[in-house]
Amino acid sequence: MASQLQSNSPEGIGRKSYDMSLSDHGFETKQLKGLSYPLGDHVPQYGEAYPLAPDIGWTRLPVPGNLNHINIWLLDDEFDGRSGYAIADTGLFLKDCIAHWKSMFEGELSDKQVTRIFVTHFHPDHAGCAGWLANRHKAPVWMNRTEWLMARMLTADVRDHPPKEALAIRKLMGYPEERLEKFAEQGWGNFAKAVSRLPISHTRMDDGDVIAVGSREWQVITGGGHTPEHSCMVDHHNGVIIAGDQILPRITSNVSMMDLEPNADPLGEWLASIDKFKDALAPDMLVLPAHGSPFTGVQKRLDRLAEGHHERLDILEKEFAKRELRACDCFDLLFDREITDSVYGLAAGEAMAHLRHLDRTGRATCEIRDGVAWFGKA
Ligand SMILES: [Zn+2]
Repeated sequence: MASQLQSNSPEGIGRKSYDMSLSDHGFETKQLKGLSYPLGDHVPQYGEAYPLAPDIGWTRLPVPGNLNHINIWLLDDEFDGRSGYAIADTGLFLKDCIAHWKSMFEGELSDKQVTRIFVTHFHPDHAGCAGWLANRHKAPVWMNRTEWLMARMLTADVRDHPPKEALAIRKLMGYPEERLEKFAEQGWGNFAKAVSRLPISHTRMDDGDVIAVGSREWQVITGGGHTPEHSCMVDHHNGVIIAGDQILPRITSNVSMMDLEPNADPLGEWLASIDKFKDALAPDMLVLPAHGSPFTGVQKRLDRLAEGHHERLDILEKEFAKRELRACDCFDLLFDREITDSVYGLAAGEAMAHLRHLDRTGRATCEIRDGVAWFGKA
């Protein structure tokens, strides 16, 4: 199986290699909600390097909670005098993930070198092991500069109590008093608990850059809204995109107002990114998402993601006829699921992003009273 990761087979060049290889896997393509999953329900085990294409390996690492897993891509590569594979996204820096990495390095991947580490964005499940892997394999980290700075900044900022501004932001969103108290107790810097320290230098991945990895050329296309400059890697020639969290098949990516920029309009950025990716991507591309299974139907999925947000915006706008809303009043209107403690912050951030976008596009008014943002009819 490991040898499947080597290849760079000449016959792979100039063809749609994913078609060529996936048709050989022998799985029944699954159709679901307008998307096609060429591998059906087949997924690799945690720590198994499954040969998705002759020169692309796919493994998974566990993520606690609803996400369940993250997909990791292993790309055949020759770089800086090394022959082996590049890693795209890295998993949480937690015991389980480290153990799976180690067993791969000692097993399936033992005969090859890590050439470099690509990270799509700063979130812990993506950047978590990057520093550890870089140090262990003396391989460089390639990341968008903003994303790298975010990760560096957040791993460096650990405090016993959240800063006052962070409490004020949660008050702005309408957190009830007991939630604010809970939040104040939970410390600050949880990010650093699941992210290894990144090296002091990185190689920048700018929007539009083209990076040769093995026999493929990947164009960096960045998106905003989920994180500031999330980097996707697009192999236009073979019709493949490493999409990270930018384009997920079943769940929607969290689009939240974030502490780093409480006056921003992240949903506006997210919707603009959807348009950007719609323009850039061919309809038959194979999408390699960070969560879920490889799929085709990217244009449909992008349309659906945008529709989902527009539907929610409409619901909130209608509600203004009846009442004013704080972010924390919107959960029943926006989400199908119960908002438990562990996702409360994400839900509030996402609700705030929707309300903010309505305000920014002239569809709502916003009045701050006693530190709380109330949104109402424009
Ligand atoms: Zn993410």
